[in-house]
Amino acid sequence: MIHGCEHAVTRLRLGIKVHYNNGVSHTRQGREPCIFLPCRFYYTVGIMVEEGALREQILALKEERDAVILAHNYQVDEVQEIADIVGDSLELSRAAASLEHATIVFCGVDFMAETAAILSPEKTVLLPAADACCPMAEMVNAGELEVLCSRFPDAAVVAYVNTTAEVKAVSDICCTSANAVKVVESLSETQVIVVPDRNLARYVARFTTKEIIPWEGYCIVHERFTPEDVRRERALHPSAEVLVHPECRPDVIDCADHVFSTSGMIQHACTSPSGEFIIGTEIGILHGLSRKCPEKRCYPLSNRAICINMKKTDLPKVCAALERMEPQIRVPERTAEPARRAIERMLAVR
Ligand code: SF4
Repeated sequence: MIHGCEHAVTRLRLGIKVHYNNGVSHTRQGREPCIFLPCRFYYTVGIMVEEGALREQILALKEERDAVILAHNYQVDEVQEIADIVGDSLELSRAAASLEHATIVFCGVDFMAETAAILSPEKTVLLPAADACCPMAEMVNAGELEVLCSRFPDAAVVAYVNTTAEVKAVSDICCTSANAVKVVESLSETQVIVVPDRNLARYVARFTTKEIIPWEGYCIVHERFTPEDVRRERALHPSAEVLVHPECRPDVIDCADHVFSTSGMIQHACTSPSGEFIIGTEIGILHGLSRKCPEKRCYPLSNRAICINMKKTDLPKVCAALERMEPQIRVPERTAEPARRAIERMLAVR
C-alpha cells in the first residue's frame, strides 16, 4: 500500500500564523524552503511539509515503485540531493537507456523525460513538474525543419537533445553539448544542419571543416551572458579560470578559458590545479560543484543565469508524482521509433 505524502505533513489553514517550538512565528506562503527554521520546511497551499519527512516518504515510495530519480545539474539543491543520478543530458540519456528500474522520475524539463520515454518505452517515465519545458526546444518544429532540409537535400541533420520528439524523429542523429563535435565528425556528409541552438552550431563549426548550417534558436539563459560579465568577474577574481557552456554566445566563448558541458565543468573543476572558477552556465550547477569539489571556489558568471523551468521541480512534486504515478510522459511509437534511431546513433558515438 502506498502511503500518501500527506502523512508526512502538518496540515495548516491558509494564511494562519504558526508558532513552532523555536518560538518563531511565520505567516509565509509559497514553495520555497522556510529560511527561519533550523530544519527546512516547505509551504504549499495550506500545507506545511518538513523536509526530512518528505525525503523519507519519497525514498519509501521510490522503493515501492521500483523507481530511480534522475536530476539535471540545473535542478534545485534538494532535488539534486535526493536523486540517484545527477548529470548532464548525455549522462542522463545513457542512464535512462541502461537502468533496470520500472519507473524513471525525471527531474528536468520535458524533452529530457521524452528522451527517457523514447529509450525505455516499457518503463513508466514521470515528469514531476508537468509544465517544465525548454523554450529553446520550442524554437523549431518538425515542419519547419523539413522546409530547411528541402533546401539542403544532401545535408545531414543533427538535433541537439534539447528538441521535441517530433524534431528528433526527422533528424539523422542527436547530440548533446558534451559530444556535439564528435557527432558531427562521425558523419559522412559534408553539409550538416544543426538544430536548434545557433550558438552550439557555431561552436561546433570551430572544430570541423564541414559546412555547418545553424538553426537560429538559442537558450534564453545562456544568451544573457555578455563579454562584460566575463570582464567584471575576472576583475573580481583575477586568479579564477573562466568556464562557459557551448550555448553561450560566440563573443562570450571568445573571452573564456574553457568551454564545457555542465558535467565537463564539474570534472574540470575537480581535476584542475586551479582553485577558483567563474562558471558561465545556469547557477544550479554550483550545488554540484560544491558537493564534488568543496575545496574549490566557484563564482557564477552572472546571478541572473536562472532557468525558471529547471526550478519548477521540488520535493513535494517529486513525492506527488511517485504517489500518483503521474504526470507520465509517453511518446507515440510512430514518433518514438525514428527518434530512438537518432538518439541511439548518438549514444553509439564514442
Ligand atoms: S537552461 Fe536553456 S536549454 Fe536548458 S532547459 Fe533552460 S532554457 Fe532550455
